[in-house]
Amino acid sequence: MTTHLLPLPAFADNYIWLLHDGRRALVVDPGDAQPVLDALARMPDLQLEAILLTHHHADHTGGVATLRSQTGAQVLGPADEKLPEPVSRLNAGDTVEAAGFRLQVIGVPGHTAGHIAYFLEPAGTDATPPLLFCGDTLFSGGCGRLFEGTPAQMLASLDRLSALPCNTRVCCAHEYTLSNLRFALAVEPHNQALIDHHARCTDLRAKHEPTLPSTLALEQAINPFLRSRLPSVIEAVQAQAPDLPGADEAAVFARLREWKNNFK
Ligand code: ZN
Ligand code: FE
Repeated sequence: MTTHLLPLPAFADNYIWLLHDGRRALVVDPGDAQPVLDALARMPDLQLEAILLTHHHADHTGGVATLRSQTGAQVLGPADEKLPEPVSRLNAGDTVEAAGFRLQVIGVPGHTAGHIAYFLEPAGTDATPPLLFCGDTLFSGGCGRLFEGTPAQMLASLDRLSALPCNTRVCCAHEYTLSNLRFALAVEPHNQALIDHHARCTDLRAKHEPTLPSTLALEQAINPFLRSRLPSVIEAVQAQAPDLPGADEAAVFARLREWKNNFK
């Protein structure tokens, strides 16, 4: 079986990920139906069998009703979020089969209270690296805003993702990379992997190409939100927040996230 992975751009900076084997397809977080319908029209051999949702926000779910009615695809999503029904509800730790792919469900609360991610470990002879669909939890060079969860929850969620194999392809739901990397460089101006990646992504965006998928190994080298326990990051955060008591890891993470929220 050959696995094909495509980011379908939607709205200003969303990606709807399309995964298929040449015949059976699934999409993740279709905020808009049209990019998916256009892709299916270009690839008439594909049958859209499943729609996977990571969380309830409209830019991830707005295309569900149209896609369901036009393709009959099954919709899967997190147990405790308000979603366009009917949805097969998933919990952290579940394994699901969708369009012939087996995916593990990982609980990643923080951006929303019930946010989940999907991890696909390739089967048997498939040479494809493992894939992670992480919605608005982990971005290249950044992480999602804390709308419904606490800093400690988000930190634990990112730890869960960071523990996956380092060759995992990270399929984020937004092209936020360049602005995230500008912030990351303010945190760690001497991080050479970060400097190099920023140059690479600047080139890609100048050509209107996606900077994604990223890899977990790369994110561990450049993403301040996966590096918040390292002295370089703790010191940068403390320089911004001199009142920070000690170096409690959730407090450092919270201040890092606040710094990013206010970063221009
Ligand atoms: Zn969101
Ligand atoms: Fe989003």
